[in-house]
Amino acid sequence: MSPIGRLAPSPTGAQHLGNARTFLLAWLSLRARSGKIILRIEDIDSPRVKPWAAEQAVEDLRWLGLDWDEGPDRPGPQAPYFQTQRSDAYASALERLRRAEQVFPCTCTRSDIATAASAPHAGQEGPVYPGTCSSRRAGDAIDLRPPFAWRFRLGQGPAAFHDRFAGPQTVRLEQLGDFVVYKSNGTPSYQLAVVVDDWAMGVTEVVRGDDLLPSTFRQLALYSFFNWQPPDFYHVPLVVGEDGRRLAKRHGDTRLATLRRQGIRPEVVVGWLAWSAGLLEQPQPIRPRDLLPEWNWNRIHRRRWTWNPAILNKWKC
Ligand code: GLU
Repeated sequence: MSPIGRLAPSPTGAQHLGNARTFLLAWLSLRARSGKIILRIEDIDSPRVKPWAAEQAVEDLRWLGLDWDEGPDRPGPQAPYFQTQRSDAYASALERLRRAEQVFPCTCTRSDIATAASAPHAGQEGPVYPGTCSSRRAGDAIDLRPPFAWRFRLGQGPAAFHDRFAGPQTVRLEQLGDFVVYKSNGTPSYQLAVVVDDWAMGVTEVVRGDDLLPSTFRQLALYSFFNWQPPDFYHVPLVVGEDGRRLAKRHGDTRLATLRRQGIRPEVVVGWLAWSAGLLEQPQPIRPRDLLPEWNWNRIHRRRWTWNPAILNKWKC
């Protein structure tokens, strides 16, 4: 059966070269096996979502030469494609979790958690939830004055999985802690929304940045609770700046929209990204579809690519 996958930009800002590289790999992996691609806009992170960013992300992807079978501009059976329009599905998932006592209402603020979480429990992603509200039952929510969030009881949830690209992965569950599935502003968390959507859209393959590896354990716990078959996961290395940190503004302007405005050709960008990932011997201008004959997961480098701003000058000439 052909795989089904998605491109899932978050319109919390402009898409940059790092996002582009991950999208390119996700697209190649699917198209090389005649897979189906859905474009989904992950716009539930309300305070951080920028009104212009969704449209710009779609333009960026098109400019790169990527395409999709369904998306906001090509409606099909999996519509709608904006997460903010899919809230009923998230609400009914929460209802199932509540009924099973798999979640509890949590009134802790960020600073409560930071203060209560002691140093040995500090996870990679900041302080781990110390369990303050976990003795509550779901029904206790009636007596609570909002705002409160809903947290998933991680319990003995999956501590290992096999990533199709990154290989076997393990975690110490105490490094993850009970995690939020519904935020105190009444919107679903990324963890819940992505699982509900990937399952509802029939997604069989997820290719994304390896910064999301820890999230995958949480998502697998949700798949397991709902008794849904999880997709195959491929976590790919990020693009980093010379300081070794994930590509960001401080590393220069690598926004695709800026490159486009500067008149840089998308083929040049794609060629460098493909070379950086291990698909070309030399960076040379190429369209994504012309990379399909070269495609093979075995060729993809496992190391992160360090972005060097001097490359931009080569692109400009
Ligand atoms: N929306 C996320 C991002 O833009 C991707 C999440 C996912 O692929 O699960 O980084």
